[in-house]
Amino acid sequence: MKIYHTTKRLQEILHVTPIETSIGFIPTMGALHEGHISLVERALKENTVVVVSIFVNPTQFDNEGDLSKYPRTLEEDSKLLSQTSQDIIIFAPTPAEVYGTAIKSKKYDFGKLANEMEGKHRKGHFDGVGTVLNHLFRIIEPDRAYFGEKDFQQLQIVKKLVVLENLPVTIVGCPILRETDGLAMSSRNKRLTVEQRENAVFISEILKITQQQFQEKTIEELTQFAENTFAENKHLDLEYFEIANIKNLKTAKKKKEGKKYRAFIAAFAGEVRLIDNLALN
Ligand code: AMP
Repeated sequence: MKIYHTTKRLQEILHVTPIETSIGFIPTMGALHEGHISLVERALKENTVVVVSIFVNPTQFDNEGDLSKYPRTLEEDSKLLSQTSQDIIIFAPTPAEVYGTAIKSKKYDFGKLANEMEGKHRKGHFDGVGTVLNHLFRIIEPDRAYFGEKDFQQLQIVKKLVVLENLPVTIVGCPILRETDGLAMSSRNKRLTVEQRENAVFISEILKITQQQFQEKTIEELTQFAENTFAENKHLDLEYFEIANIKNLKTAKKKKEGKKYRAFIAAFAGEVRLIDNLALN
């Protein structure tokens, strides 16, 4: 397994590979867990070369504290990847290596999609995500790139990005991996105290109840229930609970025949912001 820190060295390796190779790419911010590994395993099955980037992207954070406290564990990450396959190529660049001298976001027009949920609550977040992925896609030139449904809105944004930037890459969405109690795996879970970790499972439990009751109850009733139940939990602070049409991620007011819906939650456990979502029908 090889780790590259510079674009030049990485491209030297990727460019000497035979023409019939296909490159699978998994962009991550590190602090890897089984959720990331599930994306890597899928990429290993579908490509001859697999590149995992480990880069905490400064432009997608709207909060300096969140950026500085984001876990950075390159050594453990490399170990976990090498246990998965010795053939994986890791790209762990510095911000200057990705951005040059101007570490800032490009402004994208992702349409209404960018104004819902994460876009509404994290100003500039998707411009930061789009910018870093545009740089990384141009450096790596992957055939396929793998993204988790854990960040379902991000997955839809990335599909738009490749159209806007005219990038020849196929975007592959992958299911959410969960801990045995249901909590969605996340690098941020490492920052939870024991008490916060015990309570964090509440997020996936509310999503599960919403899914179970989706046929009988109205969207208003389900939303009220979720908001009231969160209000009673003093360990979690709900930022949003939304039931949205999966096509445009617009908040749904009423269920419509033939449409697909998902429920989305963002909540704080202390300073740690957690997100999760679940298909409802
Ligand atoms: P991150 O390192 O958090 O930026 O995540 C890198 C990629 O891994 C993104 O495409 C995430 O959606 C995906 N991912 C993160 N957590 C999970 C999970 N629990 N299950 C599946 N994919 C995940």
